[in-house]
Amino acid sequence: MVRVALPVSQSMVYMYRPDAVRALYSRELRERLPWYYSVMNNERPAKFMIARSLEAPLNPYEESDVEELWRVHDRLMAEFESLWHEVFHGGEKVEDSGGWSYLDVKIALARRMLDKCYLCEWNCGAERSRGRIGICRVGKECIVYSYFHHMGEEAPLVPSGTIFYGGCPFRCVFCQNWEISQKKDSDYIEVSPRELALIQESLRLTGSRNINHVGGDPTPHIPAIVESMKYLKVNVPQIWNSDMHLTIPAMKLIRDLIDLWLPDFKFGNDKCGRRLSLVKDYYRVTTRNLLIAYGHGDMIIRHLVLPGHIGCCTRPVVRWIARNTPKVALNLMDQYHPDFLVPKMPDKYREIARPLKRREFEEALRIAESEGFTTMIEDLLFTG
Ligand code: SF4
Repeated sequence: MVRVALPVSQSMVYMYRPDAVRALYSRELRERLPWYYSVMNNERPAKFMIARSLEAPLNPYEESDVEELWRVHDRLMAEFESLWHEVFHGGEKVEDSGGWSYLDVKIALARRMLDKCYLCEWNCGAERSRGRIGICRVGKECIVYSYFHHMGEEAPLVPSGTIFYGGCPFRCVFCQNWEISQKKDSDYIEVSPRELALIQESLRLTGSRNINHVGGDPTPHIPAIVESMKYLKVNVPQIWNSDMHLTIPAMKLIRDLIDLWLPDFKFGNDKCGRRLSLVKDYYRVTTRNLLIAYGHGDMIIRHLVLPGHIGCCTRPVVRWIARNTPKVALNLMDQYHPDFLVPKMPDKYREIARPLKRREFEEALRIAESEGFTTMIEDLLFTG
């Protein structure tokens, strides 16, 4: 049965997650995640609203030349940048454009991308607009398994209006959401962009601090997610909770719509990515996309510490973050447990066929500290 949102009150949050209440009033966290907090508190419009206010010079739905649409998009991208900074620093008010907007251009492009899908780096070319299914197991429709106020996310996000989409471009052998990412059972609903907007409104109006797009992975659902923002009538920060295996065009589509990035940075090299998530080019694509996102919204990078992968994954991941995206918050996660294929093939995945040891997590924390992550606020690590 699809799990849906019931209202959540401040007293419930206080009872289950007192750290989330503290985070709401934390001056330090607010200074570290300034854009997210200003949208969450309704002091600034979310980026999708700014994109909606920026007028486009043509009707993008009637433009048949996709190259021309991208040229228009990229010109508006530059205009968006300065408008966003004005809104951020000056508190500029924005209103929906009277005609076609930057968001409409994005919607038109996202729809075209489904003709021969190239949303993620599989670049598999599935003709999804004609109903074909891609490697991610997603076709034409947007599939939602559940949506609810998530009480288990990072303190500044809770309660988080989380939407679990079906399918995923990754095949993580230890996936904890494999029922929705790796197989398509019957417990889902197909939603239109308007219905997706209504889901988001219901989450925000019943207590969520944000909308958290996750899965599986939200990447195959970009067309519906982007279009839902055209109909969304409430101001709410948009969170991208993903493995970040998007193509550059897909990154360009969402870069100016996401207020807080919540990427998983799993592996410190391609070999582990290939063996444990069955993706190619893991490290280059992930780091490239983190650099595209960095500075365009706040960011909390998650790294799940895997048993036996401290040297090959945790150390290079943390080092890369400290050197390339030092202003992000880092969440080192210790909750790994064997799931999905790992318990079925313990010999093949020997090193991860057990929970993480305490001393391994302590070593991960020491690595983070040695790379400059010396400030901890509500379990999030920051440099300086
Ligand atoms: S999102 Fe799915 S259909 Fe699109 S390129 Fe990736 S695997 Fe293929």
